[in-house]
Amino acid sequence: MNCLNFSGGPGILPEAVLAETQRAISMVPEAGLSILGISHRSDWFAAVVAEAEQNIRALLKLPESHAVLFLQGGASLQFSMIPMLLLRGSGKTAEYLRTGYWSAKAIPEAALEGKVRVVWDGEAGGFRRLPEPGELSCSADAAYLHYVSNETVEGTQFHAIPGIDGVPRVCDMSSDFLSRPFDPDRFDLIYAHAQKNLGPAGVTVVVVRRDLLDRAPAELPALLDYRRHVEAHSVYNTPPVFAIYVTMLVTRWLLNEIGGLENMASINRQKAENLYQAIDASDGFYQGWAAPGNRSLMNVVFRLKSAEQEAAFLQRATAAGFSGLAGHRSLGGIRASIYNAMTPQAVTLLCSFMEDFARSGRGV
Ligand SMILES: *Cc1c(COP(=O)(O)O)cnc(C)c1O
Repeated sequence: MNCLNFSGGPGILPEAVLAETQRAISMVPEAGLSILGISHRSDWFAAVVAEAEQNIRALLKLPESHAVLFLQGGASLQFSMIPMLLLRGSGKTAEYLRTGYWSAKAIPEAALEGKVRVVWDGEAGGFRRLPEPGELSCSADAAYLHYVSNETVEGTQFHAIPGIDGVPRVCDMSSDFLSRPFDPDRFDLIYAHAQKNLGPAGVTVVVVRRDLLDRAPAELPALLDYRRHVEAHSVYNTPPVFAIYVTMLVTRWLLNEIGGLENMASINRQKAENLYQAIDASDGFYQGWAAPGNRSLMNVVFRLKSAEQEAAFLQRATAAGFSGLAGHRSLGGIRASIYNAMTPQAVTLLCSFMEDFARSGRGV
């Protein structure tokens, strides 16, 4: 059975991209070789990297002030590379919004490099809500402000950009990059690994303002120095050729099939509305985790009344062909991840399943 993939990550990819990837594993016609055996020094691969970058530039309307990089080490390595670049030896303090599982993981890594101040901490409230702009007292001379635009585990998402313009703004967009348009000029460094919304595991996209790189400390290991990667056009050492290729196909799909990020965002809004509607109309049978104003359009997290009911829900859902609905191991409950590639039709099927399950669960 071909399951519908609601996993938090690695997540669903578009059917058309998977079909093309399948052909490329046999043979990339222009190269006469399998994608798994093409040299990263070939002209063909240089063109793949260039197209992936161009597509991301076109989708974001990204100015030349920013470089686009394809790196390894996942989002987790960015937790370290960012403070190595912007905090180490600066004498300043880095500011972090602690809004969930992933932003919390970034903080101790930064603390290894210098002083860190947590500007806002949502843990006491179970990370169910995000700060309002008025609740934040960010400092105008911070080294940078770091936040996570979409907390993948708790299912919260910023719908406005926090922080002070003028202070370097650094954002982990791993689970919502290219799901909606935003003004790239307001960001100094954005990172997103591929495996949630963008492609297969193995590559992390970094969009960084070039003039930020001038401050890099001299003694950084080459692989941890963004400047080396800019100079080498993301091919400093052997890159994940396959992951970059598939990510390029996804950006091509976003441009040509979806028609850009405005269209993608409106499809994503519709999908999320349908699913939250199924939760809200269930008379408390399903309970959303995130505060309504902070609900994520990518990860819809909810609970049932008991662990037994959640187990029964997951069992029936799996049998019906819905895969990956178990909540993150740190939180439990249910999480439906509805990334870009999840079709509205599949979300409608899940909504119907939820209505049926609630009806039988109430014994009516
Ligand atoms: C999954 C996730 C991470 C961790 O990424 P790795 O690539 O596994 O290091 C970091 N940030 C966010 C927002 C995530 O969703």
